[in-house]
Amino acid sequence: MLPAIAEPHRFGRRDLTLSIAIVGAGPAGYYTAEATQKQWGNDVRIDIIDRLPTPYGLIRAGVAPDHQSIKAVTKRYEGTNLAPGTRLVGNVMLGRDVSVEELLGLYDAVVLSVGAPHDKPIGIPGDDLPGVIGSAAFVGWYNGHPDHAGLNVDLSHHGAAIIGNGNVAIDCARVLAKTVDELSTTDIADHALKTLAESSVRDVHIIGRRGPHQASFTTKEAGELGHLVRAHPVVRPSDFPPEAEDAALDPGQRKMVTHLRGFAGLPRGDKPVTINFEFFRRPVAVEGHGKAERLIVETTRLENGQAVGTGELHAIPCGLVIACIGYRTAEIPGVNWSDKLGRFPTDDAGRIAPALYASGWARRGPSGTIGTNRPDGFSVVAAMVEDGIAASGKAGPAGLDALLATRGVKASDFAGWQKIEAAEVAAARAGAPREKLVDVTKMLQIAL
Ligand code: NAP
Repeated sequence: MLPAIAEPHRFGRRDLTLSIAIVGAGPAGYYTAEATQKQWGNDVRIDIIDRLPTPYGLIRAGVAPDHQSIKAVTKRYEGTNLAPGTRLVGNVMLGRDVSVEELLGLYDAVVLSVGAPHDKPIGIPGDDLPGVIGSAAFVGWYNGHPDHAGLNVDLSHHGAAIIGNGNVAIDCARVLAKTVDELSTTDIADHALKTLAESSVRDVHIIGRRGPHQASFTTKEAGELGHLVRAHPVVRPSDFPPEAEDAALDPGQRKMVTHLRGFAGLPRGDKPVTINFEFFRRPVAVEGHGKAERLIVETTRLENGQAVGTGELHAIPCGLVIACIGYRTAEIPGVNWSDKLGRFPTDDAGRIAPALYASGWARRGPSGTIGTNRPDGFSVVAAMVEDGIAASGKAGPAGLDALLATRGVKASDFAGWQKIEAAEVAAARAGAPREKLVDVTKMLQIAL
């Protein structure tokens, strides 16, 4: 049950308190809520609506389980959610349980902070073969996201190819390469830990269509691969431009490239797993009999900064291909959407239509760090102020409750999430922070 809001207001009655609906309880949603609270203090009611009973979006289901320190930011979001007048409305899906049009009728403004949960398609022959998956699915699987917990991840082959030169590619490679001991004290989902414990993967290939200077790894993430217990990073020195050219890079990028160059001199020792950086290779096909058996890549060269194929093909033996090449926002009925952008077209501040805004990845696409969402939240609130968003007598949270009740939709709240969290902490493996529930029905049994 959702807690009653202190001030008197009823469905259909004029309520002269500003009400804002934020759809998506991830970092973008929480920073937008924080900025909304800072702007209007006690004079605003905020509903943070999420289709899951669990908040925190990518912090819970995207950030790698062995990067727990990044997840500490949820304490800040908890504080935002526990502030008076702010609710979590979980288990309510936009487009299924309530429409954007209805939200706009109930709230003075609506912000879509729904992220970008769908994988950008690779678009090469064979990309529909079993064994080819996107990073949203693979990352969701090891992080216990209910949508992906049931994914069949076959690690019986020696080779795994990871397409893309961003931090998600590094996360996926690291999870495949770490030992069970390294992972068991994290909140990696138990099903994933068990599958990884039986893994035959020994050669991980990270495929970049451009070179080391164009890679979008960050320094820490690249450097970590040089310190894994059982895996050894391998680079081809011939893929690097002369060292003097590193001077033209920005300092962060230069450090990252220095880490990559350093991998060439690392002794392999007896580490059984290799992480092979395959720069200047673009994927052209996945081949195999009824399942992925090899990725065909074409050597590339740079022309005006872009990768151009040379016609030279190589086969990389692999039973698993993970595309870490970016994400797309989900389409929402009634909201203008651009297939080209893979998200809602907005202006720079996040305006979609009158009283309808977007923040986070739903506004700018899948880029930046968790912290990038904070200025995003503030800029969307500044746009609301500029647009004159003010209390207009709409029914607000009570109106949503009444509407959901007519539809038999049972929303969960923040107290429900806290019960789920307590159950997860209680079920944790020794040394791990929690064992995530992956089944929404079970979550709701605890939360409601
Ligand atoms: P990303 O950094 O944008 O990297 C995407 C990669 O995919 C690029 O190397 C891109 O190559 C490549 N690519 C795109 N389309 C391709 C295609 N058709 N064929 C081959 N390669 C293709 O995205 P990401 O790794 O998904 O990360 C998303 C955001 O989350 C980033 O801002 C990232 O830094 C952040 N993140 C941060 C952390 C962390 O801080 N620890 C962890 C995970 C994610 P081109 O450059 O040639 O286009």
